[in-house]
Amino acid sequence: MTSPLALLLDFDGTLVPTAPTPDAAIVSDELRTLVAAALERLDGRLAIISGRSLEQLDALWGRALWPVTVAASHGLELRHDGHRRAPPPAGVFPRLARATDAHFGAAQGVVLELKNYGLGIHYRLAPRLRLAVKAWAEDCAAAHDLAIQEGEMVFELRLPGADKGDAVHAIMALAPFRGAAPLYIGDDFTDIAAITAARALGGRGLAVGRRIAAHADGMLESPEAVLEGLRALAAGAPSAFFT
Ligand SMILES: [Mg+2]
Repeated sequence: MTSPLALLLDFDGTLVPTAPTPDAAIVSDELRTLVAAALERLDGRLAIISGRSLEQLDALWGRALWPVTVAASHGLELRHDGHRRAPPPAGVFPRLARATDAHFGAAQGVVLELKNYGLGIHYRLAPRLRLAVKAWAEDCAAAHDLAIQEGEMVFELRLPGADKGDAVHAIMALAPFRGAAPLYIGDDFTDIAAITAARALGGRGLAVGRRIAAHADGMLESPEAVLEGLRALAAGAPSAFFT
């Protein structure tokens, strides 16, 4: 690869193991240090692209995230060089969160993740409810013209019109990413669009785990393997992810 490398990373299931509930994800001091070192090695060409909101990511990462280009809410929010670009929060999601809570009841193990531009309905603690959650999410999406996205033990309702592929294109149009070859790494169905975008821009995509491996150019076993690549990159081996 002759173009310089730009590293575009999903967060949950890629940099950290998917937690039982969204709030339970933990960003270790080592991960913060590795991202800072990789950012330095890549002259700023490292971005995180997540379905979480920017607010959620900031709460988990703290100030370590400030120098990193971040596309959050599946690309609806973009922060680069300290500037944030985002549409106004959508009022429909707090209403749907209340309705969903009433529908399933607190005791059933359905966990809600309310964001500015979406509502995640998690059933990891109650896998038997998958079809009921799916049907409910489909009803809500149809009633409010929302997009619906299935992820790892979650159905997410969100505003239509942005996906992680759009986020890849938006980021790669910015300095210092422009002209680099993107390497995208992700684990879930929403990451397939990002891998497609990375390829269209002359780069490639790696899967973490098997879920989307058939759509990727290679596979890393687990988030720990991604950290291993970041350790090598931080230590000065730019080919860390290409061996
Ligand atoms: Mg993920």
